[in-house]
Amino acid sequence: MNTPLKATSVPTALGIRQFVDTHILPQAAQMDQEQEIPRALFTEMAAEGLTGLAVPVKYGGTAVDYATLGAIHEELGRGYASVQNACTVFGMVCKPLARFGSEAQKHKWLPAIAAGEVIPAIAITEPMVGSDIAKLETEAVQEDGQIILNGRKKYITLGQIADVFLVFARLNGRGVAVLVERGTPGLQIDPMRGLMGLRANMIAELTFEHCSVPVENLVGKIGFGFTHVANYALDEGRYTTACGSVGLAQACLEQSIQYAGERFQFGEPLRKHPLVQKMLSEMITGSKAARELCAAAGRLREQGDPAAITETLVAKYHASKTAVHAADHALQIHGASGCMSGNPVERFYRDAKIMEIIEGTSQMHELQIARNFRL
Ligand SMILES: Cc1cc2nc3c(=O)[nH]c(=O)nc-3n(C[C@H](O)[C@H](O)[C@H](O)COP(=O)(O)OP(=O)(O)OC[C@H]3O[C@@H](n4cnc5c(N)ncnc54)[C@H](O)[C@@H]3O)c2cc1C
Repeated sequence: MNTPLKATSVPTALGIRQFVDTHILPQAAQMDQEQEIPRALFTEMAAEGLTGLAVPVKYGGTAVDYATLGAIHEELGRGYASVQNACTVFGMVCKPLARFGSEAQKHKWLPAIAAGEVIPAIAITEPMVGSDIAKLETEAVQEDGQIILNGRKKYITLGQIADVFLVFARLNGRGVAVLVERGTPGLQIDPMRGLMGLRANMIAELTFEHCSVPVENLVGKIGFGFTHVANYALDEGRYTTACGSVGLAQACLEQSIQYAGERFQFGEPLRKHPLVQKMLSEMITGSKAARELCAAAGRLREQGDPAAITETLVAKYHASKTAVHAADHALQIHGASGCMSGNPVERFYRDAKIMEIIEGTSQMHELQIARNFRL
């Protein structure tokens, strides 16, 4: 057995708040403009324990509890949505790897990911298959101890820089999850630019043409790919996306309160006008309610309660809508100044909408919540 690796410093929400204020907020506009998170920021995030949030301590991670994880993602969402979503992706790869991966896979990948040396990505979506993941078309064939992949993936966050991809495919009609390293012959990576929001996600399209990896790269059993590995990853991603959305709503609120205090119209600061107060009140109420839903989901997740799945769906559904609503009000309160590129609320507006699409669209949440409540 390998000697357990020493964990990096255990992050706290307060510590990450300071990190966000000094390392993320000052360069958020630039990351959005350049459509890129600098590699150096991942190294700094690793030093804070942020790349190992979902990695067990035994494998060099910080494995924080769900309440702390949620509070950290709220801080990250307040800082910059693309950085928050990058951390979501780290969790969506590391959580299933820690649960379904072989010991060899865990030893190879988890410590390196936690240390910020390896960037992971999760590849589910395809050009012809989005929400209906049971219909994925990427094909896997098992031959002479190898898994051979053919197919395409699209909109893969961090795809432009990722070192390892957790790829979902169909083997004899059954779902599989496979680890594919960057540089594997038959894997082509094409950067996609021009996203409306979450512009620094560094998304890419992946093409697999007779891309062959050892059968040892399968994560979990054949047939578990969609039902267990993908669903576990998406459930984890929904929780941190919900918390990140609360942070984004909070950023909208803070920016709006500040502006409404500085901008005078009709002889008074905007914040004294009842209709502006109405918008601010809705933002305060909405973000508080979303935070409470996230906290409820976090408590159930920590207890391993099966009800956590529905509670997480509810939290993500409400929090992403709250972020959109808050960004809409923030832009309204800022008037023309908020419509200019470079103004943070213009970015919040673009970023917020995408929270309703990633990790399951709002409509998929509505359908799933209705099903879980046996409607
Ligand atoms: C910034 C960004 C980052 C992303 N990162 C990743 C990533 O890292 N990995 C990855 O695999 N994917 C990623 N995605 C893709 C994302 O997961 C998908 O966009 C999402 O799952 C929805 O799929 P789709 O866009 O193909 O929409 P579709 O599934 O085609 O749906 C289009 C619209 O129709 C609605 N709709 C579909 N079916 C129904 C129905 N039965 N009833 C009612 N309405 C329905 C949907 O809600 C949606 O509004 C990313 C996307 C974005 C924008």
